[in-house]
Amino acid sequence: MRMSKLFVQTLREFPSDAEVISHKLLVRAGYIRKLTNGIYNYMPLMWRVLKKIESIVREEMDNSGAQELLMPFVQPAELWEESGRWDVYGKELMRLKDRHSREMCLGPTHEEVITSIAREGIRSYKQLPINLYQIQSKFRDEIRPRFGLLRGREFIMKDAYSFDVDEEGLDKSYQIMADAYRRIFERCGLETKMVQSDSGAIGGSVSHEFMVLVNEESENNAGENDVFYCTKCGYSANSNHAVSLLNSVITVGKYTKSEIIDTPNTHSIDELAKFLNIPESIICKCLIYVVDGKYVAALIRGDRAVEETKLMNVFAGNDIRIARNDEIEEIMQLSGYSAIAGFIGPKGLKNVEIVADETVKDLKNFVIGCNINDKHLVGANWGVDVELPVKIADIRLVEENDKCINCGSSLKVTKGIEVGNIFKLGTKYSKKMNATFTDKDGQEKPFIMGCYGIGISRTAAAAVERHHDENGIIWPLAIAPYKVIVVPVSDQDEIQMKVAEYIYNKLLESKVEVLLDDRAERAGVKLKDADLIGIPYRITVGKTIKDNLVEFKTRAGNIIETISPDDAIAKILSI
Ligand code: ATP
Ligand code: MG
Repeated sequence: MRMSKLFVQTLREFPSDAEVISHKLLVRAGYIRKLTNGIYNYMPLMWRVLKKIESIVREEMDNSGAQELLMPFVQPAELWEESGRWDVYGKELMRLKDRHSREMCLGPTHEEVITSIAREGIRSYKQLPINLYQIQSKFRDEIRPRFGLLRGREFIMKDAYSFDVDEEGLDKSYQIMADAYRRIFERCGLETKMVQSDSGAIGGSVSHEFMVLVNEESENNAGENDVFYCTKCGYSANSNHAVSLLNSVITVGKYTKSEIIDTPNTHSIDELAKFLNIPESIICKCLIYVVDGKYVAALIRGDRAVEETKLMNVFAGNDIRIARNDEIEEIMQLSGYSAIAGFIGPKGLKNVEIVADETVKDLKNFVIGCNINDKHLVGANWGVDVELPVKIADIRLVEENDKCINCGSSLKVTKGIEVGNIFKLGTKYSKKMNATFTDKDGQEKPFIMGCYGIGISRTAAAAVERHHDENGIIWPLAIAPYKVIVVPVSDQDEIQMKVAEYIYNKLLESKVEVLLDDRAERAGVKLKDADLIGIPYRITVGKTIKDNLVEFKTRAGNIIETISPDDAIAKILSI
């Protein structure tokens, strides 16, 4: 392709609305154009990258025995009512009505549709196992569509669904996908870590995420996930799922007598601990949340934080947020108190479900809110002053240097971008939607399902997060839009142009994906653009051509060699 013809506009500046480097670089290098919030045009260079990722995904999925199909993007509400998700999916589900006022939605994922296909088309155990997949645009009305392709509202996903006769079969299908995913990301030039994760709104029991780790490379938390991992035994999990051993801290307070004392203006644990001159670990925090519209109080030791997904899962919820001040006021009124946040305690709360983290169980002579402003109960003990809640669960956020649940070593933390995930769904959809097959023994049984997603467009952006420098993108070879760019320094120099054309044509003949920068631009502009758009190899034809030498640049590491045009061609062909 000739650059004079290529439809691409590179910008001199980064776009002002971009926070993370992949978003900045993809816009500036002309790969994507924003249409509206969270919705992008994939320009020709981008589309080539996406097609490369897609074809790697296709090859590995096909090799693993999966079959490709394509399901509709618009789905009827009835299917979602059958699965029960019409009411719980929330605002990410883009709902619309057709001309007959029938409710529809834009597909954010396709469990319902695929289950309806299996229900119609798979009658017998003889047709199982089977894995069906598609590559398609998805729509999710994300609350914060930011970070460009990392979190769009419309984005491209590969989603696969497996159907098995039993759990054992599912284990196998799951493992086959885990192996395929490893190969896919490796071939895309991306190192990933497979970590345990929460199963979220999709449900099911076991799930893993494939994370591109981006601790040092990314700015502004492009890696939206915290991944905790153990270097000794290999345990690793998303923070929404990670567990650790209880850390040993002081859990017995200095108070020998239980009494309510003045603690003026101690709205935070930090302020309270300082005021009383005690460790935070002998305070029992009481936080009010709203889970699916219901009030929940979470008790946790003062030195630890609540992990909201874990808390939400205790109540099998779909949505969680911290309570607003007016909601706390409402609870207080109902319970006959008037305290504000910071002084709340579990005793006497009405209309609130209470759950305690494991950390509070061992507290003795501790400090806790008593629902009176500017006062706390000190020297409290479970069963004497306050009842220990019946519901006790692990709802705490793991912290770096917590001890590994498996081997006791210190956990480390890093940031990760989730590029794919795999779920064991079991019978969650097949039971609700009455999707069954006839088993060997003649019995009708629900399918045992798994689902497996890869964010195609997010993977491209994650590759940029991971591979770039101050001059631009550095595409991994396998997913680069073109492998080589040939740049004549001066388009006015006949010899330079002739040699550049020669190299270009030789490479084209050998089916190398190559760009020729034949634009009437200054050398500086052309060389900057070549770096910015991130083509892995650059062959620059300049003045040294009179000695039959060109510059051969490897974009990764910016390594420059001076060799003959034919050697440059040979070098490319050998790669
Ligand atoms: P996240 O927690 O990041 O929102 P998710 O758990 O909702 O992801 P899935 O429903 O499992 O994601 O979707 C499968 C894959 O699709 C994800 O692993 C991710 O790579 C990609 N993906 C999900 N949401 C988006 C989005 N808004 N923009 C781009 N890619 C996405
Ligand atoms: Mg999501």
